[in-house]
Amino acid sequence: MQSWFTFELDGEECRVEKEDTHCSLASYLYRLDPCFRGFSGHDPWQGGDPVVLGDIEGDRHRFRVVDAGLIMLPMLAGRQVWTSEGIQNTEPDHPVNLALRKNHFECGAERIGALRILLFEGYYRPDLRRQGQINDQFDSIVTRTENAPAIRDAAAQVFASTEQLRHEAAQKAEKSGQESGIWTGRRDIFEDRFTKRLFQIKERAALSYVDGAKKRFYRPDTLVELLRLKKQYPNSRFVSGGTDLTSLSGEVEWPNLISLEAVKELNTFLTTEEEWEIGASISLTEISELIGRECPAFPKLMRRFACRAIRNRSSLGGYLASDWRNSQITPLLLALNARVILLSEDGERDAPISQFFEETGSIILAPHEVIRSIIIPRSNESVLAGRGITSVLTDVYTVAPRRNLSRPYATAAFSLEIRDRTIAKARLAYSGIGTVPARAREAEEFLAGKVWKEATAFDVLPILNETVEVDDSQEHAAYRKQLVVTLFQKFLSQHPRPDSTRPEALTATGEFAKLDQPFFDAIPS
Ligand SMILES: Cc1cc2nc3c(=O)[nH]c(=O)nc-3n(C[C@H](O)[C@H](O)[C@H](O)COP(=O)(O)OP(=O)(O)OC[C@H]3O[C@@H](n4cnc5c(N)ncnc54)[C@H](O)[C@@H]3O)c2cc1C
Repeated sequence: MQSWFTFELDGEECRVEKEDTHCSLASYLYRLDPCFRGFSGHDPWQGGDPVVLGDIEGDRHRFRVVDAGLIMLPMLAGRQVWTSEGIQNTEPDHPVNLALRKNHFECGAERIGALRILLFEGYYRPDLRRQGQINDQFDSIVTRTENAPAIRDAAAQVFASTEQLRHEAAQKAEKSGQESGIWTGRRDIFEDRFTKRLFQIKERAALSYVDGAKKRFYRPDTLVELLRLKKQYPNSRFVSGGTDLTSLSGEVEWPNLISLEAVKELNTFLTTEEEWEIGASISLTEISELIGRECPAFPKLMRRFACRAIRNRSSLGGYLASDWRNSQITPLLLALNARVILLSEDGERDAPISQFFEETGSIILAPHEVIRSIIIPRSNESVLAGRGITSVLTDVYTVAPRRNLSRPYATAAFSLEIRDRTIAKARLAYSGIGTVPARAREAEEFLAGKVWKEATAFDVLPILNETVEVDDSQEHAAYRKQLVVTLFQKFLSQHPRPDSTRPEALTATGEFAKLDQPFFDAIPS
């Protein structure tokens, strides 16, 4: 057992010794240096204390915005952290610093700090290529500032410059006949001080850390070791992204924490022709990047889920285990007919997501079990053709008091498998309505075998109204009940025909956000 570990802070090695296993990075920084005085009064619901984490995900090195108030210090062992102060003071000036100096924003130092961090992450994101994604990058702050148009403009300039860089690097690679790796971010095209260090990060290694009060933080790197530790310390707590656990750590103390972040099997994404198997510890952002093209409802859902700093850390396993009431992802998992694989020393069991939540309101996960992975059936053309399905309509809707960072009233996800014009299979699911997320079985049965047209959809509305159970003890129960029907009507109005439309093309702000306009338009040579 070791009582110290190191991580890299703003380009310098930082040795942590005997610090509390539960201590957050934010409170550590606050004590470390007066320049970090801003890391006080942490509130994740107001965007938190963002910093950049340099990490390796599978075979890709990534900068990710995280909330320093929701990350426990031992999670950082072997990783890199950049603060806004570190980025601001590093020579030569980073393009993000130049953009912030050129554009004047009327906001306080903390908001500018958050903006610098979000711009920095966006600068290196290979998937951030269109104007419509700006909200996705700045969702923790754009709804809370009058500077939104100015932020959009500054961001568009910064991101256009990186797109140009990528374009030039891709052209160079093509001329020399190399596989470029540019659009996937596998290659360092920036070769600046930050990325040179990023690309030196090694795979997460095992860690056994004990703090001054003898609390332990284990980060095993195999499943065997993970299960052995759980047997040895039955009262230990698993921790993945830590967003849920860290928010409780002021009230609860765990003598032993077992991190899932270095176990390969829990961090691996497997894809076959028929399904995706998503390691339980993979972050929501990474999942969105991996499946988003084929399953656009997932990234659409993510745009209403917390904010980037939370999505970059939250794992799907942690999400299911933390059993958040009104949880947003479960209806989509139900509509996609996902399954959960649970693992313990006694072996593995496989449960459809619909059985994961019990009618009593609890989940079937036993205390000694770990969620190993989540399996989502794919609906690509060849899989559908094999089953004689001609199209699938899948969409998801969240209703909440704010666009982001608020507890949603309800989420609905609908998926229709269609053979010519007839519905072969329907899956309709809601959360935030009853006591647990659930499918609307009676309505699904009614729809099967009917032609997908307006009259069918209207016929099913009374069935939804009568059969979807509403938890009357919840706030705004009557409003939630109305949503059962109105969200299905919205689905009908947006997908009136059996041919699928990409959900993101249907947002009310689509035109305003110039969804498909690229930051940089290469002139064809
Ligand atoms: C500011 C904020 C905003 C949020 N907004 C939303 C929102 O808009 N919509 C929404 O649905 N949710 C929201 N959440 C909840 C969020 O979804 C959860 O915090 C997150 O998904 C937990 O994932 P994690 O990997 O960080 O879990 P952790 O914090 O690491 O763990 C959470 C729990 O799950 C257990 N656990 C973790 N992984 C596993 C595993 N593989 N097997 C067994 N047990 C495991 C842990 O022991 C712990 O009990 C929000 C949370 C915060 C803090």
